[in-house]
Amino acid sequence: MAGTDAFIGLGSNLEEPSAQLARAVIALAALPKTELVAQSPFYRSRPVGPQDQPDFINGAVWIRTELSAIELLDELQAIEQNHGRERLQHWGPRTLDLDLLLYGMATLAEPRLSVPHPELPNRDFVLQPLLDLAPDLTLPDGAPIAELRARCPDNRLRRLDPIPRDPI
Ligand code: AMP
Repeated sequence: MAGTDAFIGLGSNLEEPSAQLARAVIALAALPKTELVAQSPFYRSRPVGPQDQPDFINGAVWIRTELSAIELLDELQAIEQNHGRERLQHWGPRTLDLDLLLYGMATLAEPRLSVPHPELPNRDFVLQPLLDLAPDLTLPDGAPIAELRARCPDNRLRRLDPIPRDPI
């Protein structure tokens, strides 16, 4: 399939987070004009911000899509809504968070969309799954993900056992 290679970050810390992520991968694979290339292992990480909330489960997915970046963001937000996302507090607990990490080698600074995702270089729970998926990946400015991961503050990341195969 022609299209753009894009990387999506997934996070959840409510209502069986691993199952939330597994269902999100299925929803991403079913997006129009899109195919799933690969999914990363899942990781457990300490929350960013308020600490009085459960650990997060994080992962990343590599897709190839003919959707535009904004169309893809719309689809990600629709999946979040379908998963009954609740946000009571900034950086607080959430059932499902989907971030567009990279969209090809595009750099975008639009009101609704910044790509690469601005927090990408600071978050080991994003960088490590990206590294698992594509060890030679770089940012549009040429910065290797592997170098960013080596420099990133450690968030006590723990790799989980293989992803449950039949989450539904
Ligand atoms: P959050 O759910 O806290 O990650 O933030 C969601 C908001 O960030 C939405 O209003 C999006 O329009 C905006 N946003 C900006 N850039 C991105 C991106 N690369 N991926 C996902 N959301 C983004």
